[in-house]
Amino acid sequence: MNKKIFDTIVIGSGAGGLSSAAYLAREGLNVLLCEKMNEIGGYLNNFTRKGKSGDKYTFDTGLHYVNGCMEGGDFLAILEEAVGPQSKNLNWNLVDPVKINRYMYNDFEYTIPMGFDNFKNSLLYKFPDAKETINKTFHMVNDIDQTFHKVMQITENIETKSLFGKIAAISRLVPIFPKLLRYTSKTSKEILRDVNDYRILKIFESFSGECGVDLEQGTSIVLLLAKHYSNGAFYPQGGTKALINLFRDTILRNGGTVMKKAGVTSIGKEGDFFKVVTQNREFFTKTIISNTDAKVLYSDLLPQEMVPENVQKKIQNTVPSVSNFYTFVGTDLDLSKYMTSGNVTIIDQNFFDANNQSLDGHFLTSPTLKDPNGGHSTKGKYSLEIISDTCTFEEWKQWENSKPYQRPIEYMKKKEEIGMKIIKLIERKFIPNLTSHLDFVEFATPLTNFHYISAPNGSMYGPAQIPSQTFRNFYPIETKIPGLYHCGSSTTFGGVAPCLSSGLNAAKKLLGHHKK
Ligand SMILES: Cc1cc2nc3c(=O)[nH]c(=O)nc-3n(C[C@H](O)[C@H](O)[C@H](O)COP(=O)(O)OP(=O)(O)OC[C@H]3O[C@@H](n4cnc5c(N)ncnc54)[C@H](O)[C@@H]3O)c2cc1C
Repeated sequence: MNKKIFDTIVIGSGAGGLSSAAYLAREGLNVLLCEKMNEIGGYLNNFTRKGKSGDKYTFDTGLHYVNGCMEGGDFLAILEEAVGPQSKNLNWNLVDPVKINRYMYNDFEYTIPMGFDNFKNSLLYKFPDAKETINKTFHMVNDIDQTFHKVMQITENIETKSLFGKIAAISRLVPIFPKLLRYTSKTSKEILRDVNDYRILKIFESFSGECGVDLEQGTSIVLLLAKHYSNGAFYPQGGTKALINLFRDTILRNGGTVMKKAGVTSIGKEGDFFKVVTQNREFFTKTIISNTDAKVLYSDLLPQEMVPENVQKKIQNTVPSVSNFYTFVGTDLDLSKYMTSGNVTIIDQNFFDANNQSLDGHFLTSPTLKDPNGGHSTKGKYSLEIISDTCTFEEWKQWENSKPYQRPIEYMKKKEEIGMKIIKLIERKFIPNLTSHLDFVEFATPLTNFHYISAPNGSMYGPAQIPSQTFRNFYPIETKIPGLYHCGSSTTFGGVAPCLSSGLNAAKKLLGHHKK
């Protein structure tokens, strides 16, 4: 076996792993990034397939829009911190500002525009009879937003403050503490209990859906998605590959090493060093950042004697977020007749899959329409993705040990049956004649997420965003094992920006460890 020592080893190349590895490489550390799959990026990955016509279609999996990419926006700031001035090489397309998200329910529909005030005003215009409810709901969302902004301002860099500075910060927190406790401990449903108009409730319920939890269980913080696209939604030119390449190039340019097909099988200790073992090699380091799900890190990679008992218990009790069914379509139908670069969600509460499980939300997005010059399809053809939830892992679990592309015929049949049912629903409700214009079609199930990401139960956003698993209940970035740091969706809210940010936080804490 080859032995090699690195300053730090990053395990997993999702958003968090990429940002931490890029930041540390730029800080001059000798970084090794180990990714188990044959491509880096985790949920940022994309893939290309040939249709019957021979034309190619490119699909993104886990990024369809982000916010904060306008001049001075948060997302751009995170990116610049991770990769430096090269971040300016990536351009962003603004998703249709008038139709960021169109929700089509069985009995009504509503489209969210850019701008929080526009959102509120358009609701008031469409549902004048619900004026009081709308005002109350927006007041509530504003209050949650302001409470969190204040807390973030007060606690920013609190670790680096003097004792007096820390006491001063804590005393400023006292007056807002009751609200903070209320918002972090309540579900969205509890916060919205006075909203008695079912249409407004359904629209706000959609925000929970986008975070992979339902209104009954999701933390009230997911309601902040209502403000999320105030300054617009964005999509990277060239798709998610362009974003991944920005990180990869930064790591390589700064002397880092990126290893694909390098799944870590265990982490151990040899003297002062961690021993990181992949299928055929051993690497040594004093610091690690794991971008894997907490269950992978604490149950599969670390010997149990290194894992504190309370963490072992927490792992057993962690509820994963929901999983999804994907439908990837390449078509010669002119999709611009039906949708724009904005997303469309069709909610059909009467839609059941082959096992009679409700699969009611179908999120449609077209990379071609989001980025017409980005090479997602040839001219006149369109790539379309349909992400359907909630699709439970249990239904597919019996096939979890079979290999992708070699799964049994029963699995293939069930996948095809559900997928075609979804396509027919979209045809009936939204894109007529879709079935006669399928140049390419492929389906994927929760087993796909499990295979590619090692996401427990194929979860889309890491642990479910419920009060008992968010904020002070996130898995810590600085673990109890000295030198071991953690980032990604187990340590923060799901979504590309929070995960990138968690990678930066882990990297900064780790640098402090190196300086000790
Ligand atoms: C269908 C879908 C749509 C989404 N849409 C959006 C969207 O539009 N906007 C948005 O902001 N967010 C979206 N998200 C969420 C977002 O993609 C994720 O929250 C985010 O990308 C997760 O990043 P992460 O840092 O947790 O890493 P992950 O993407 O979870 O990656 C973890 C990496 O670790 C690797 N790994 C695991 N075990 C090992 C091991 N033992 N050794 C080596 N490597 C290992 C995995 O292979 C993977 O590459 C979506 C998610 C899904 C599933």
